Amino acid sequence: MIPMPGSFVRLVGALAVTVLAAATLSGQTAPGRPLQLVTSAGIRPVPTVMAGDVEMIALDDLAALFGVDAREDTLAQAFTIAYQGKTIVLSQDQALASIGGRLVSLPAAPARISNRWHVPVEVIGRALAVVFDTPLELRKASRLVIQGALRVPRVAVRHDAAGTQARVVLDVTPAVPHQIVQEAGRLLVRFEADLLDLSAAPVQSQGFVQAVRVGPSPTTVLVELGPRFGSFRGADTPIAPTGVRITLDIFGTPEPTAARPDEAPGATGTPGAPAPSPSLGVPGLRTIVIDAGHGGEDAGARGAGGTLEKSVTLAVALALEQVLEARLGARVLMTREGDREVNLDERAALANNNKADLFLSLHANASVKGAASGAEIFVLSLNTADEAVRQVVGSRGMAMPVFGGGSRDIDVILWEMAQARHVERSSELARLIETQLRGAVPLGPRPVQRAPLRVLVGANMPAVLIEMGYLTNTRQESQLASKDFQTRLVSALVEAIGRFFAAADQPEGQTPPVGGAP
Ligand SMILES: [Zn+2]
Repeated sequence: MIPMPGSFVRLVGALAVTVLAAATLSGQTAPGRPLQLVTSAGIRPVPTVMAGDVEMIALDDLAALFGVDAREDTLAQAFTIAYQGKTIVLSQDQALASIGGRLVSLPAAPARISNRWHVPVEVIGRALAVVFDTPLELRKASRLVIQGALRVPRVAVRHDAAGTQARVVLDVTPAVPHQIVQEAGRLLVRFEADLLDLSAAPVQSQGFVQAVRVGPSPTTVLVELGPRFGSFRGADTPIAPTGVRITLDIFGTPEPTAARPDEAPGATGTPGAPAPSPSLGVPGLRTIVIDAGHGGEDAGARGAGGTLEKSVTLAVALALEQVLEARLGARVLMTREGDREVNLDERAALANNNKADLFLSLHANASVKGAASGAEIFVLSLNTADEAVRQVVGSRGMAMPVFGGGSRDIDVILWEMAQARHVERSSELARLIETQLRGAVPLGPRPVQRAPLRVLVGANMPAVLIEMGYLTNTRQESQLASKDFQTRLVSALVEAIGRFFAAADQPEGQTPPVGGAP
């Protein structure tokens, strides 16, 4: 734990409130909350301006805030940023920075705004962070720049309630030591950290939990309990690569109307005592990674009605997680549970690190043809006519013509081929999914396809990507956003996954039992 002066603690407290309440701070021309620089000395605002979609910082402000030397090299038409003998060169007319010959991309070239040179704020995370000898991290979505060895774990909060119990899940990345304390009317989760980077949707209370927020200290998460609270149980499970999931199972008080507590209505065979959460100890336990496509600033496809792909994928992923746990007793890991950006390699890495048995990536499609509709299931293509593409695009993604018309950014496979040895089983899974989806949701004319999808390539287990439908089709947009459609889709997927595992458990030539595992 880092000792901190009192003023820092107060400042941090103010920030924590800001983060939570999204309070109104005088936000220059930048959108929403200003960027804040967090150091062991305190918190300072980072002045930024918007140039189109790109958030920029003046070069001299950057120099002052981070103690670097920034100057214009008129001859070379470039800017140099020097820090302890190391140099970053920013081309004046390209969205590139060079650090000791290594190129990093930026969202825009430097720009002259109000007579001062500005550079994209990404320079902080992508260039300064490389030359600094202390940790430096830009968390744009959280509006934080963290400098120094501070512990500012991300805490993503999820709340579900059903029947006689509720669950609050805190996904903490990276993991830090913590302690759960029950006080009158509330649970406190105290973290050994310098600040919390909390993201939580408002709780839709069903009487067990009223709210989840930061407080009373800036490093404590407070769970406000409701009138139905009876008892709770806390459990930690590691989440890859470095996080911890804190699960708070909250059990209701016995129904006052139930005369005999051992005949509580609706109880599922666990009279009196709180119902245990789905067992994770069943034999043949499977680990499934669900990848909700996109997230954070990467919204993915967008429907005419404003439905965002990242929201649809997350909603389906969360529902799927619950049903897989409940019906298959599977261990389910999520590449994201909130609205945050996760890069493609991290997604497969989570599955690999946890030795997952299956990787399922969820997406919704877009097409210039408004009529394009229906779900499609993608398996990695090993057709190395991709070689040509490979040579053209180098190591980055590119806009490619897409399945169904139009074009969009696709991440093309370039290096690793972990998925290669699983393609056959991935195809089996895709066929099972097709069978189950048929009749449940609209399918595209070619429901199973192959494509060089980068998110699948590194996955060292059967892996498929599902485009659930087309957001660019008005009818499909409202379907994709509807609970009904999502529920049918989730049931079909769970059925298919159950059959896939059942088939794997059978010796050759035997027919797997129909229906999900107990
Ligand atoms: Zn997508």
